[in-house]
Amino acid sequence: MADVPATVLLYHEDSYVRRFDATVVAVEGRALALDRTAFYPGGGGQMADRGDLLVDGWRAPLAGLRKEGEVVWHEVAPDAGALPAVGATLTGELDWDFRYHMMRTHTALHLLCGLIFTNYGAQVTGGQMYPDRARMDFSMEGFTPALIRDIEMSVNQAIAENHEVKVYRLPRAQAMEIPDLIRTKINLLPPGIQEIRIVEIVGVDVQADGGTHVRETGEVGSMRVIKTENKGRQNKRMEIALGD
Ligand SMILES: [Zn+2]
Repeated sequence: MADVPATVLLYHEDSYVRRFDATVVAVEGRALALDRTAFYPGGGGQMADRGDLLVDGWRAPLAGLRKEGEVVWHEVAPDAGALPAVGATLTGELDWDFRYHMMRTHTALHLLCGLIFTNYGAQVTGGQMYPDRARMDFSMEGFTPALIRDIEMSVNQAIAENHEVKVYRLPRAQAMEIPDLIRTKINLLPPGIQEIRIVEIVGVDVQADGGTHVRETGEVGSMRVIKTENKGRQNKRMEIALGD
């Protein structure tokens, strides 16, 4: 297989890009690699984007996205007809309602885990976003109704305070010196990665993260806890949903 050039990840630089032009750099089966993309391929609990590829009169819905190494592959549905060839230019159009909801949900989860860590010292063991809700697992012994009320209130207060969400990169060694990062998965990152992407909700949470977020916490709207579940003595699950 010929070397496919690394895809420029527009979603890492600006999560608000919803339409972009790109050039096809490789075709494999029903999948296209582009020189750049704003489609988030999924990962870190955030669902892959949805949307369409457009070339002249051809409009093909994405059937899937995957990231292999440095390359994002855009899979096109089998019934979409012949794929554009290498060198063709096209336009990518995100399903913005879906993506923006993911961004709001993702930032809400960072508020949640930042505040649960600050207030209760509990670490996150996993999380997943869905179109209508999200879940997060915490290493703690139990949720009491008072704790649930308290955490819901803290998160909604932080939303109302409209904290800035900053995204930047740090050299790995420097990132390792931020105490707050140690609780996240930074130690699990492959040793080859020398630069760490940081998502900081100013005053609330700092994490190594590859996802897409809103610019200010006010955009989240509101959050409520819809369910809690016991997944073991030291593992408790919380499900949340957003309001408007
Ligand atoms: Zn995240």
